[in-house]
Amino acid sequence: MSRILIVGAGLTGSLCAHLLRRALASKLQLVIWDKARGAGGRMSTSRCTSDPNCTVDLGAQYITVTPDYAQKHKMFHDELVAKGICIPLRATVEGMVMKEGSYNLVTPQGVSSIVKHYLSQSGADIFYERHVTHINLREGKWEVCRKSGTPENFDIVVLTMPVPQILQLQGDISQLIKEKQRQQLETVSYSSRYALGLFYETGTQIDVPWAAKYISDNPCIRFISIDNKKRNVESSEIGPSLVVHTSVPFGIENLEQEKEAVQPLILKQLNSLLPNLPQAKDIKCQKWRYSQVTEAFPECPGQITLHSKPFLLCGGDGFTHSNFDGCTESALRIVETIVSQSQH
Ligand code: FAD
Repeated sequence: MSRILIVGAGLTGSLCAHLLRRALASKLQLVIWDKARGAGGRMSTSRCTSDPNCTVDLGAQYITVTPDYAQKHKMFHDELVAKGICIPLRATVEGMVMKEGSYNLVTPQGVSSIVKHYLSQSGADIFYERHVTHINLREGKWEVCRKSGTPENFDIVVLTMPVPQILQLQGDISQLIKEKQRQQLETVSYSSRYALGLFYETGTQIDVPWAAKYISDNPCIRFISIDNKKRNVESSEIGPSLVVHTSVPFGIENLEQEKEAVQPLILKQLNSLLPNLPQAKDIKCQKWRYSQVTEAFPECPGQITLHSKPFLLCGGDGFTHSNFDGCTESALRIVETIVSQSQH
């Protein structure tokens, strides 16, 4: 039996775990480590401190099904819809530009419900607040070290975090990455932006004619969504929530600032765009240093093999593109690589 570690409980890691379990069933022990306190990665859903039912999606907003993937990944889209995890977007999104033949799905329980679904199907042992720092090769196994706690050994390791975070790992891994691969990894780049989640008292009215809107003429704000309205969950028992995404130039300009210093700048711009916005009871600010891929790994291979015996693989949207189908493609390529070796 192989002991496999997947680093990252985002969409790529969770789907990879689910597909590996389906392909190899009892032949493996699956373990997932994530440095965060919960599942989702950039598909995270944040909760109001005083009311855990009031939530916002601070990262990904919709699953956009494009004609390119409508057939190719049909079984993934259909399964999420059949289980009620995704529903069609019905609300008005002003300024949205759609590729012809595309449609959007939203998640009534928040976008992290997709990741949680795959994690629950995977039967993996999942551990949060495990920040991987070093990876060493010791007698044919990977010794994986974390910020605190004892190192553990694995037969296979799969890294699914953003590429710059892979390049930060220390130990033998840094010598094992071949020079050409390192150069290619260094070309992968991401945009940066901030997200703000605002939570309101039950019964608060946010009087706008849209559920979400793209803003094109503000120096700071690019997107606003009345998050529960966008997800088609308007309830008399749960207060509304609102999410703001900043523009990428604003994100880059303020990247090295503390969140606490940036939050008032975003709120000031929000109040100028929506002067009648009621007072929020709770606000969360998220810095997305690695938001969406602006340049992927050359030729978008889905995954790359850093070492083959034993396997050390890496995948994620950096090896495809930043959306549901990009991560799905990456998870499929990772699983294909592991399964083909297990059959030899
Ligand atoms: P991640 O979600 O980044 O997962 C990697 C995980 O690794 C994280 O949980 C992280 O905590 C963990 N990790 C990192 N380093 C370590 C370490 N050293 N040790 C342990 N764990 C570690 N996509 C869409 O489809 N539709 C959208 O509308 C959309 N909008 C977006 C808006 C924003 C603001 C952002 C940020 C992204 C958006 N995306 C959207 C892109 C989408 O969210 C990502 O492509 C996808 O979530 C990436 O998943 P992943 O699993 O590859 O990586």
